[in-house]
Amino acid sequence: MSMIEIDRRSALTLAAILPLAAALPAWAQQAVSEGADAAAWDLSEIYPSVAAWDAARQAVLAEMPKLTAYKGRLGESAAVLTEAMVGQSDLGKTAGRVYTYASLSGDADVRDAAAQERLGQARDMFTAYGEATAWTAPEIVALGREKVEGFIAQSPVLKERFAFGLLDTIRQAEHVLSPEGEQIMASASAPLAGPQEIRSQLVAADIPWPTVTLSDGRTQRLDDQGYTLTRDAPNRNDRKKVFDTFWAAYNQYRSSLGAALASKLKADVFNMKARGYNSSLEMFLDGPNVPAGVYRALVAEANAGLPQLHRYFDLRRRMLNLPDMAYYDIYPPLVSLDKTFTLDQMRTTVLEAVQPLGREYVAKLADATSKKWMDPFPRPGKASGAYMQPGAYDVHPYLLLNLSNQYDGMTTYAHEWGHAMHSLLAKEAQPYDLSGYATFIAEIASTANEQLLFEHMMKQAKTREEKLFYLGQQMENIRGTFFRQAMFAEFELKLHEMAEAGEGLSGKRFSDAYYELVTRYHGPNVNIPEPYAVEWAYIPHFYRNFYVYQYATSISAGVAFARKIEQGGAAEAERYLNVLRAGGSDYPVEILKKGGLDMTTPDPYRSLVAGFKDILDQAEALLG
Ligand SMILES: [Zn+2]
Repeated sequence: MSMIEIDRRSALTLAAILPLAAALPAWAQQAVSEGADAAAWDLSEIYPSVAAWDAARQAVLAEMPKLTAYKGRLGESAAVLTEAMVGQSDLGKTAGRVYTYASLSGDADVRDAAAQERLGQARDMFTAYGEATAWTAPEIVALGREKVEGFIAQSPVLKERFAFGLLDTIRQAEHVLSPEGEQIMASASAPLAGPQEIRSQLVAADIPWPTVTLSDGRTQRLDDQGYTLTRDAPNRNDRKKVFDTFWAAYNQYRSSLGAALASKLKADVFNMKARGYNSSLEMFLDGPNVPAGVYRALVAEANAGLPQLHRYFDLRRRMLNLPDMAYYDIYPPLVSLDKTFTLDQMRTTVLEAVQPLGREYVAKLADATSKKWMDPFPRPGKASGAYMQPGAYDVHPYLLLNLSNQYDGMTTYAHEWGHAMHSLLAKEAQPYDLSGYATFIAEIASTANEQLLFEHMMKQAKTREEKLFYLGQQMENIRGTFFRQAMFAEFELKLHEMAEAGEGLSGKRFSDAYYELVTRYHGPNVNIPEPYAVEWAYIPHFYRNFYVYQYATSISAGVAFARKIEQGGAAEAERYLNVLRAGGSDYPVEILKKGGLDMTTPDPYRSLVAGFKDILDQAEALLG
């Protein structure tokens, strides 16, 4: 019932992962030469040695037959069900600790072959755990609601730790097929996953990516990664060249990429019909029990907020001194800031910024950040990106970061420590089995911290340039995380509606639909040449089953909470902290509702758009 959650921040911005070993910035080189040649976190708190880790792994494997021994027995009594659930929970928790040690040491140096081998062993152990417990959900469904509720009433342990998960399993039973039906679905799952594989092979291996020469003489191969490296080129002709060349390459493969996506959509319709859902949207939102109204409210309110987004593009054109605005003018930074931060300054600043959350939160964060929980800086061989790993539940969260010494490094620091605090607060308030929070709310604590940091920096900023810099960062953040992800969400819904209605699907149809959307979202003053509408083919998330909307709902909730806290003080802060403390003890939309945020209504999204408008007003006032 519990799951290891890993947040890779790079995924949030859809940025390509940069190979770190290639070019370490000078200040990080210095850190290396000063002796930071090993990770700064202390993994010996998880296991004192590799030998101790291996002994724990062997012990987990040796315990697994005990879990399987309960197969066919769950209906015997409340006591037997309790024993089986506690056994799975305890072993799952230890397995998480074993996995976390292997995963963190593997990411500390991806070139360490022995560490990679241990990671493989840890994954195999998790697969074995999955197999040893896979029978549980069908057996609980077979027991039926009445019997399970009766057992829960008899056992305080079931009531406190497992009731939510047990009843959630039964809730979803409506869409579970007969054993024969499930067998067929399982056999069909590999071919139905084929389209995604075809897309990644095309993009990674088959498309002959072109090379461009930029105005400074530099040449760049324009694959996905090369595109993200050059799309913000300071020279406008370079940017146009990059866009024209890159999207032309995608357009040459539009039919094949379209056929792959069309097949994926048809697979979703097959699954939807087989499992008795009314729509693909309903099916994919059913796991975390998110009402389709959340999705529709997001899309409707993003559209209602478009005049503000269009205003942003006009402002961007002005700030970049351009005669007009085109799609390739979206990525260059608006203002540069010549200000750097040491790790200690980041810590002090973030601690000041989160003061609205109350003394207890600040004290807890101050304590956590004084310990060896985090590996902050890039280093040759270290994994890229940034994440918080809560999997060593009985130890503490660990954080892998690759901080730059710029402002974006400090926002990453605030973001990932927001995740860590969420896990810490949930752990204090909930039993292990209810502490893991859903993806739908996982990005709220992190974005709320970023928002508080932004407000704090605005108050501290001395110069007009500095203020414009922070405002520019925040405008881009809202464009990329709210509007762009809402546009993707609307596209994903549109595609599924086309597939469900039996409409013809092709690369051309997808580009036409995308062009309508991208021109509507960007407004009449942003020139978007039609060939750029093949951008849909570049977004791997359209194979991730209604996932991207959560970026937009999370930033809406995070910003809405931060605004409530600024206006409402201690009482609002407490309501927000209770949302974090709730962990996974209820459905995510219900947890937020108790915190005063109803994601099925327009309010959270209107709050975000109102915040965006404030920022635009401030920037316009500063520009005069
Ligand atoms: Zn995050």
